[in-house]
Amino acid sequence: MSVKDVAIIGQGPAGLSAAIYTSRAGLDTLIIGCAPKVAGDYDIDNYFGFPAGIKGNELIELGCEHAAKYGTQLSCEKVLAIHMQPDMTFKIKTDYGEYQARTVILATGVSRVRPGIKNISEYEGKGVSYCVSCDGFFFKGKKVVVVGEGVFAANQAIELKEYTPYVSICTQGKEPEIPENYMQHLQELDIEIMKGKIQNLEGEQFLEKAHFEDGTTLDVDGLFVAMGEASSLDFAYSLGITTQKNFIEADHEQKTNVPGVFAAGDCVGRFLQISVAVGEGAIAARSAIKYIKGLRKQE
Ligand SMILES: Cc1cc2nc3c(=O)[nH]c(=O)nc-3n(C[C@H](O)[C@H](O)[C@H](O)COP(=O)(O)OP(=O)(O)OC[C@H]3O[C@@H](n4cnc5c(N)ncnc54)[C@H](O)[C@@H]3O)c2cc1C
Repeated sequence: MSVKDVAIIGQGPAGLSAAIYTSRAGLDTLIIGCAPKVAGDYDIDNYFGFPAGIKGNELIELGCEHAAKYGTQLSCEKVLAIHMQPDMTFKIKTDYGEYQARTVILATGVSRVRPGIKNISEYEGKGVSYCVSCDGFFFKGKKVVVVGEGVFAANQAIELKEYTPYVSICTQGKEPEIPENYMQHLQELDIEIMKGKIQNLEGEQFLEKAHFEDGTTLDVDGLFVAMGEASSLDFAYSLGITTQKNFIEADHEQKTNVPGVFAAGDCVGRFLQISVAVGEGAIAARSAIKYIKGLRKQE
């Protein structure tokens, strides 16, 4: 597998802006992500240079064209997990395959979907977790349920099987959106998919039961939340990046506390606007370029 210089997660204004800078600087750049929410039929009236306004989808299409012109590779895939390797590169698992990169720029916007379980916060750290690679180990041989409807949840459930045979998925009342190859794998691993909706949790000190809307109850020691797509917060948990509330912490150079990982745009949560995302993307790119130059000097 060839190692990319820069893997940018997110194809929104922050990611595209970063890619234009890193590609122009000659770095081998990959953007992983599909069209962002703003790429619809929305009028953008406050972005510099478009006094008559521009549609969100046009702006993003032009951004993609601009990045591709300088050699950025764009791939519409969902990132499921990012792990740092012993050689300090990053392995990025997607719903289609794997990539390896020397640096990562997180530009995933704000995307965390809440599961809608009433008292879930009472059990956070007492059975409820958001990160299998961080906490899966603590549930060896125990009963766990992954709450989520998509390929992210499927991947988390498959990872959990390394720790315990008792793994199921609960889609919280949604229809599963899991591709056939993942479905087959779940069947092979005997991971049941429940379509009910967990309403609230119970347990003296730690989680013991999940109560469903239809009145049924599931005995469970661990509940892993993996709704919708993996978000920057999920990547932060597994990489050890510090966060503040629901956002990634990045300094004025868009550096996170993990060397080689940068963050830009809405996922940093400063001012959720296109102009800010574009600016932070440029700064993150400059920092990534500096980091790669440093690595090359050491070689
Ligand atoms: C309807 C709407 C209208 C808006 N109007 C305006 C406006 O008029 N003016 C203005 O300044 N701002 C506006 N905004 C806000 C603006 O869109 C955001 O501030 C801006 O898009 C943030 O850019 P970003 O690149 O940080 O994140 P986003 O644009 O949200 O892009 C995030 C990217 O990350 C990808 N992603 C997320 N998770 C994953 C994953 N697990 N794997 C792979 N990819 C992933 C998404 O697919 C997407 O490509 C609007 C937003 C919306 C939704």
